[in-house]
Amino acid sequence: MKITGVDCTVLVVPDCNSDACDSSQDTVVVEIRSDEGITGIGEVDTNPWVVKTLVESPGSHIMSLGLKQLLLDQDPTQPQAIWDRLYTLSAMTGRRGAGICAIGAIDMAIWDLYGKATGKPVWRLLGGVPQPHVTPYASLLPTGTTLAEYRESLLAKATWAREFGFSAAKLEICIKGPYTHNRLQEGDDAIVQLVAECRQEMGPEMRIMVDVAYCWSDWKEALRVLRRLEQYDIFFVETPLPSDDLEGYRRLANATDIRIAAGEWLQTRYEFLDLMDRGQVDVVQPDVGRVGGFTEALRVVQLAQDRGKIVVPHCWKTGIGAAATAHLAAVSPNCRFIEFLPAAVAESRLRRELVSDELQIVKGRLQLPRHPGLGVSLNPEAFSRFAAAAERLYSPRPLPQEA
Ligand SMILES: [Mg+2]
Repeated sequence: MKITGVDCTVLVVPDCNSDACDSSQDTVVVEIRSDEGITGIGEVDTNPWVVKTLVESPGSHIMSLGLKQLLLDQDPTQPQAIWDRLYTLSAMTGRRGAGICAIGAIDMAIWDLYGKATGKPVWRLLGGVPQPHVTPYASLLPTGTTLAEYRESLLAKATWAREFGFSAAKLEICIKGPYTHNRLQEGDDAIVQLVAECRQEMGPEMRIMVDVAYCWSDWKEALRVLRRLEQYDIFFVETPLPSDDLEGYRRLANATDIRIAAGEWLQTRYEFLDLMDRGQVDVVQPDVGRVGGFTEALRVVQLAQDRGKIVVPHCWKTGIGAAATAHLAAVSPNCRFIEFLPAAVAESRLRRELVSDELQIVKGRLQLPRHPGLGVSLNPEAFSRFAAAAERLYSPRPLPQEA
């Protein structure tokens, strides 16, 4: 079998809000076709136009070839060999950042194609020890442009998660720091108050995670708040500090009893080695697409296991990424939870509508996918609609005052 075609499509929701702390409003879908008429799909959570350009651009020399150019005629039943080929021969341009994100979407699509060609779900092909089930936590991002609206929305989603039967939920509290939701700008007291109210609402049994979206600029400021949060039995606090402040992460992780989680933005095992060995975080959060696909995510899971670290993969995308995350977790013994954006409480129509086969959650657990490949298929009508919305957004238009 040979790869004969690679297509890259940018999709955006029609009501895209660039003030929202919400990357599920867009995606880039990579479709890889074979000479046997089989197509694999993958996506990645980063700027979709940049990935499309990286995939489609040609290259003129052996240190920086184009990804599509490198894929044609390759055997999709050899994903690791293809990964090494892409990484090595695009390295001058692509060995970190968006270059690895593009390789990640491609790798996801190749494993999907490989699974469909052999009639097996991806997790059966990944090797490792199959887990009996996968436990999702509900990732809850409130809406609202005032603190009162944000609080009301968060509490309503927390109630929904408890009543639905999730055993764990993460509170997205993006109200302070550089990545606030709808430009809210609140203080530490509001963060503690929201956590306290959610704990009361969710009861003592549910696991609670808290994502503060890089809100503190130094570790001692973070530590003061984490000490106030310890009484609410928090499973982990995610990304309290800027992504590159590894010394701050090390000091914070060693000073608090709450687990520190990070890694959602990182590429390759090399960045995770730094995060684990220098940053000493307790929980690593590779995103299957962004870390470089299944091939690289498996390496991160193994390195984390060697160090006694917990893996809780990041996923904030469509049903494609949600399925990929479940397949990874299915063969990762140190994966305690996966992040799961429930379609029922997601604002993003891409999350709700792009794929037609939603993973089933029974009593708070995901059953292992049984269909070949990723086990999800694109909804063609939704795909066309979101592609048209992306075209409209991308077309240069004069600003009103210039018209
Ligand atoms: Mg996060």
